[in-house]
Amino acid sequence: MSAHEQFADDLALLALGQLQGEERIALEKHLEECAACRRELEQLRGDTALLALSAAGPAPPRRARERLLKAIAKEPRSPKMAARRWSWTLIPWFAAAAFALAFVFFFRQSDRLAQRVAELQSESTQQQAQLDRAREVVATLTATDAMRVTLIAGQTPPQPQGKAIYVRNRSSLVFLASNMPALPSRKAYELWLIPTNGAPIPAGVFKPDAHGSATVIEPPLPAGVEAKAFAITVEPEEGSTTPTMPIVMMGAGE
Ligand SMILES: [Zn+2]
Repeated sequence: MSAHEQFADDLALLALGQLQGEERIALEKHLEECAACRRELEQLRGDTALLALSAAGPAPPRRARERLLKAIAKEPRSPKMAARRWSWTLIPWFAAAAFALAFVFFFRQSDRLAQRVAELQSESTQQQAQLDRAREVVATLTATDAMRVTLIAGQTPPQPQGKAIYVRNRSSLVFLASNMPALPSRKAYELWLIPTNGAPIPAGVFKPDAHGSATVIEPPLPAGVEAKAFAITVEPEEGSTTPTMPIVMMGAGE
């Protein structure tokens, strides 16, 4: 296996801001001396932006979706697996990885990545909870009844953008943001679900990475709330129960 292949999946995670620790350090070191991987990373970051822009568009190709769901649902074929590169104590990496792979898969439809999803699933025999969570995320991303909301702020490039994908009957939310401005110290962004009736509901506190990317995956939400819109405010890093004005980003259902 060449160094590039070894890093291929980590690049997808890095592009999504989901790679941490030793693996991130190793990859960043490799990136310093490898133009090919730097190009690949740029391409993946482009795909991430593309998804943020196009998640409200046509559904992913049906066949790609079915193949991915099948790969994730497949029972482990062998209890004995090759050496693990993942530290499962750093969960929810599996969910993040499956999410990242689902993400990239729809937009690059790479067999290599589909295979990696299957491998991750096999590696996770003792990680049923994480697997269930990954399934939930994929189900949310691919749900035909999902509410897909784009949140924007201002017109100055690079324009911050958020994409909320919300499935009301499962109380399931996946949120992706790009080009988010850096925050003052001890502050964080907080996502709010604005219901059709009643007060805004906290839907996750997050901080963007060095590239301004952020994700909120499956925050705890009350059951079955009908959403009118989603909004973001800047809050103390522990989060607030009611939004502090002003709203910095906002979007309503399409
Ligand atoms: Zn390389």
